[in-house]
Amino acid sequence: MNAALERMMDFDLSEEQRLVRRAVREFAEAEILPHVDRYEREERYPTELIAKLPALGLLGPMIPEEYGGSFTDVLTYGVICEELARVDWVVASVVSVANSLLAGSLLKFGTEEQKRRFLPGIASGDIICSACLTEPRGGTDLGNMDTTAKKVDGGYLLNGTKVFISHAVHAKLFFIVASIDRSLKHKGVTAFVADPTQMKGLTIGGFPMRTLKRDNLAEVHFEDVFVPDEAVLGEPGRGFPILGSALDMGRFSVAARCVGQSQRAIDLAAPYAMERDAFGQKIGEFQLVQDKIADMVARTEQARLLVYRLGRMKDAGLERCSLESSLAKLKASQAATQNALDGMAVFGGYSVTAEYEIGRLLLEAKALEFGEGTSDLHQKMIAEFALGIRKQ
Ligand SMILES: Cc1cc2nc3c(=O)[nH]c(=O)nc-3n(C[C@H](O)[C@H](O)[C@H](O)COP(=O)(O)OP(=O)(O)OC[C@H]3O[C@@H](n4cnc5c(N)ncnc54)[C@H](O)[C@@H]3O)c2cc1C
Repeated sequence: MNAALERMMDFDLSEEQRLVRRAVREFAEAEILPHVDRYEREERYPTELIAKLPALGLLGPMIPEEYGGSFTDVLTYGVICEELARVDWVVASVVSVANSLLAGSLLKFGTEEQKRRFLPGIASGDIICSACLTEPRGGTDLGNMDTTAKKVDGGYLLNGTKVFISHAVHAKLFFIVASIDRSLKHKGVTAFVADPTQMKGLTIGGFPMRTLKRDNLAEVHFEDVFVPDEAVLGEPGRGFPILGSALDMGRFSVAARCVGQSQRAIDLAAPYAMERDAFGQKIGEFQLVQDKIADMVARTEQARLLVYRLGRMKDAGLERCSLESSLAKLKASQAATQNALDGMAVFGGYSVTAEYEIGRLLLEAKALEFGEGTSDLHQKMIAEFALGIRKQ
């Protein structure tokens, strides 16, 4: 094998990873995809679809076997997120929040007791996870949060409001960030893991959405909610690096999901272009339509390479890869948005009808540009790395 080919193979999937991809794709197309449209119309959370995941180990791909999970490697986790998101962004979000934000943080920073208490339930599907980060005054400037954690005998009292919280209504495990001293800014941030069903003073209300109603976004209000000392993840006041680590892995899985959504736009638009006629030929034979399809493919492949490289770096033991995470998240989420737009152009007016899926992808992709750091934030971070203002 020549050296160039060997280098290329570094970015390729192993035989096992290909088998996982094939198995997840077959499962997702048979068991999830046929139901998504109905759930969308009914604005219904996909509880029954999520229940199908544990049998294939798809709820615990980042959780080691000793805690009931199916972990093999980070890249495989990315492939699973990619394939699930290719058919349904809500199901993929359940896996991504649970594994990147909760399980990943518990494994790195949790006590043995916290790991034993929560990880097997996450992998089995008994525990749906939710991350309470964003606040009404902003989700980007997380070092400046308003939610407080006041030390009391045996634990903390949480006060504050979190908004846009996915899965909260269904969750049995919250990842919460709150400040023990707001004057310390990010040095006051403390991370907690706790079961919301045990919290007195907690209100989970609806969060009014114009669209994307299926994942039941919530406003979560903490009013003197007591959480015991055992709920602290890591050390009090040391939550900001935990949050950074969680978001680093979160960016990987969100980027992988965006690759899946980008691919879906191609998989929908290309056959349509070869079916639909105009001016006596298939629209896919017009150069302007081909131009869009070519861009969609190139964008997706670029994003996929960034995501797979990031997965390989994490598998090689590099825990924080902030620059590469930002690159993958930025480019993959932008690819998903642009592919949805180009795909819609191929479908013409039908793209906004209930009959076709392509229109739905647009808002889902755009929302993924906001979560786990907005595109602006990643652009800023990438520039700061290049300028030497920020270091890994
Ligand atoms: C569908 C969906 C699901 C979500 N799920 C969750 C969830 O489960 N948990 C959770 O905690 N949050 C969740 N979010 C919230 C999401 O993480 C936030 O929307 C995101 O972090 C941005 O915060 P913001 O909306 O408050 O925007 P802001 O922080 O108010 O920012 C507004 C604009 O200003 C820009 N901006 C801010 N700071 C800078 C800067 N320094 N430089 C340049 N530009 C800047 C931003 O890029 C953005 O364009 C979800 C959001 C959506 C849409």
